[in-house]
Parts: sequence; C-alpha cells; structure tokens
Amino acid sequence: MIEADVIIVGGGLSGLAVADELTRQGRNWIVLEARDRLAGRIHSAPIEGGAHRFDLGPTWLWPHNERMLAACERFGLALFEQHADGNLVFQDETGAVRRDLAFSTMAGALRIEGGIATLVDHLVRGLPDERLRLDHRVHRIHRHDDRIEVEAVTRGGAVGFSAKAMVLALPPRIIAETITFEPALPQGIVAALREVPTWMAGHAKAIAVFEQPFWRGQGLCGDAISHQGPMMEIHDASPRDGSVGALFGFIGTSVDARFGRESEMRGAVIEQLVELFGKDAATPTAFFYADWAGEPETATQADFQPLAHHPAYGMPPTLNALWDGALVFAGAEVAEVHGGYLEGALEAADAAIVNLVSLEADAA
Ligand SMILES: Cc1cc2nc3c(=O)[nH]c(=O)nc-3n(C[C@H](O)[C@H](O)[C@H](O)COP(=O)(O)OP(=O)(O)OC[C@H]3O[C@@H](n4cnc5c(N)ncnc54)[C@H](O)[C@@H]3O)c2cc1C
Repeated sequence: MIEADVIIVGGGLSGLAVADELTRQGRNWIVLEARDRLAGRIHSAPIEGGAHRFDLGPTWLWPHNERMLAACERFGLALFEQHADGNLVFQDETGAVRRDLAFSTMAGALRIEGGIATLVDHLVRGLPDERLRLDHRVHRIHRHDDRIEVEAVTRGGAVGFSAKAMVLALPPRIIAETITFEPALPQGIVAALREVPTWMAGHAKAIAVFEQPFWRGQGLCGDAISHQGPMMEIHDASPRDGSVGALFGFIGTSVDARFGRESEMRGAVIEQLVELFGKDAATPTAFFYADWAGEPETATQADFQPLAHHPAYGMPPTLNALWDGALVFAGAEVAEVHGGYLEGALEAADAAIVNLVSLEADAA
C-alpha cells in the first residue's frame, strides 16, 4: 500500500492545480491518472516536426477568466486574440453559401501561443514526476478507519494507495459510472453525480492545417456557421504568427452516424471546407480529428447528445463533507461560477484546497 497525505484522482487541469498548491504547502500527494497522458480534456496535438500545436479540446479563455489569466502570467505564456478580421461564411440547410456577413463569433476570446496544453506543460514542470502516476485507472475507493484506500488498475495489475483525504478531480458522471465506493455512497448521491452533464463531452472536433491561412486574403475571418454540416461551427485555428493556416470545426453529425467512420468524416469535412472556403481547402497538409464522446475517461452514454445550453453547474449540496470531509470534489463541473470551463477547473481546485485545509484544521 503506497501512502500519501492526499490522493488526487484525475490529472486534468483541476487535479494538477490541486497538486500544484499542495506542493507549495509542502504536502505529500499522488495523482492517479487513467490515461497515458496528463491534461484530460486539454489536448494540443503537434504537426510533424512539432513546430505548431493545435487544440483538439479547449481553445479559448476569456478576459474575465481571472485564474486562467493569472496562471498564464505566472508562467509567462503569450496570449493572443482569436483572429476576427473579415467576414463570416454562412451555409444554410440546402448547402447554399454566403460570404457577406461582417462579423466574427469569437472576437475577443484569447488563445495561448503553443496551444492550451502549454499551460499544463508549465504546471507539470514544477511537480515531482514520481507522484504523477499515469495509466492508473481508479476503480475502487474504500474507507477504512480514518484512512481512505484506493485501488487503481495498471498494465501490471492492481495497485493500492492509502491517504487521509482524497480529491476526485474528474467529471461527476465518470465517478458514478466507473468507481465503486465502500461503504457505498447513498443512491441519492450517485443519482446527483449522474445528473451533472460533462461540458463538451459529446463533441467531436476536426482541424485541417494548410500551408497558409488563405481565407484571410479573401476577406474571410475563418468563422463559419453551417446548418448543413458535418461541421456546424468553424473557426480560424492558425498559430499566432500565421506562418501556417488552420481551421477547426465542431462536428454536428450524431454519435451514431459518426462512430467508427473517421475516414468518411475526414472526407466530408474537407468537402465542406471546399464548399465554404474554396478549392485551396482541398489539400490540407495535416488533419486531426478527436471524438471526445468515444473517450470513456471523459464521456458516458448520457453525454452523447450534445447540450443545447450551458448547464447551471456547481457543487450538488449532497456532495459536501462526505466521509467527514475526507472525500473532496474538484473538476470543472463542480465549480459554482465558471462551471464546465478551464476557469472552472481552477475555481474548483481552489475550493478543494479550502476544504482540505479545513479538514486538516479539524484534525489538529
Ligand atoms: C472539445 C472541447 C472544447 C472545449 N472548449 C473549451 C474552451 O474553449 N474554453 C474552456 O474554458 N473550456 C473548454 N472546454 C472544457 C475544458 O476542457 C474543461 O473545463 C477542462 O479541461 C476540465 O478540466 P478538469 O481537470 O476538470 O477535467 P478533465 O480534463 O476531464 O480531467 C479529468 C481527468 O480524470 C481522468 N480520469 C477519468 N477517469 C479516471 C479514473 N477512473 N481514474 C483516474 N483518472 C481518471 C481523465 O483521464 C482526465 O485526465 C472544452 C472541452 C472540450 C472537450
């Protein structure tokens, strides 16, 4: 049994932010992460040679995201505004296209040079490597006297951990679907966890990279709204210096129609880009496709239907002070103010730290 003060389940932004603060406090922690990489929903994929990375998960932060801005400042990260000069392309349900609409839907949103993962890279650099356990999928959490015991499945078999407190920094639905608690959590609590939709979990995103952002020369900003699809919303994803061009789009095709059909989706995406932006879009130099609905660490079946509205997030009251306060919840979906967003992942990490500190004070 490997011992720590705090075990953090989930090495996404929220779990890593908790680890970062516990490190500053000189506490002993371990992160258990199911995937073979950190960062969770944050994923910035490099093109060959690694000159640029493109965001397959989150792309933007906003000027009101104070924690995100402070984190970027702390690590000296360069921010730049979403490219917004030029017209938006609109495609109606018949496929007809117009290019005379002078607005951009994401003007003022901010991007991080090198992709959102650059923030995680910096965060992780300050954390001891041996405490970040990848390929550790937690499936059982057991309260034993005043300790919490955790079992994680690894490629080499099951590994046990024990701690005074535990931070669950993963989507509530994933907790409810994949982790067994002993003693069992009351049914009402499991139901409350299942009711919290995971933000963007049902989405798929495609990115096409080009030698240059050719649409800018045609007076287009790279935004498109389509009622035909397969992409319903498209944006410029080029790096800050515009040395190569990139367009990304959210796929509107249903999970049933897109699962297992990645190469057809690629063909349909490029065909649509040609309809919207012209023949230069026919020959991308790189293409990325990420279907988050197919990732069991992010989505459950309940997330397959994309959300029409941003849900009212926050900590369900029944989750407070479970197991005498030793079971602490983090993750973007329990944030009161910025639920679902990157800012919410940091907000929830801050709240988890407050809970851990008061647990420690009660024990003293
Ligand atoms: C396509 C897409 C676009 C988005 N766009 C934006 C945007 O532009 N701006 C914005 O602010 N937000 C956006 N978001 C939301 C943003 O990505 C999240 O708010 C944020 O990344 C959540 O971080 P987190 O640490 O709370 O959760 P996660 O990143 O989901 O981290 C949870 C971690 O737990 C791990 N895990 C799961 N199960 C287990 C288990 N059993 N044992 C151990 N580990 C486990 C997962 O692998 C993961 O690493 C977007 C999300 C997606 C998918």
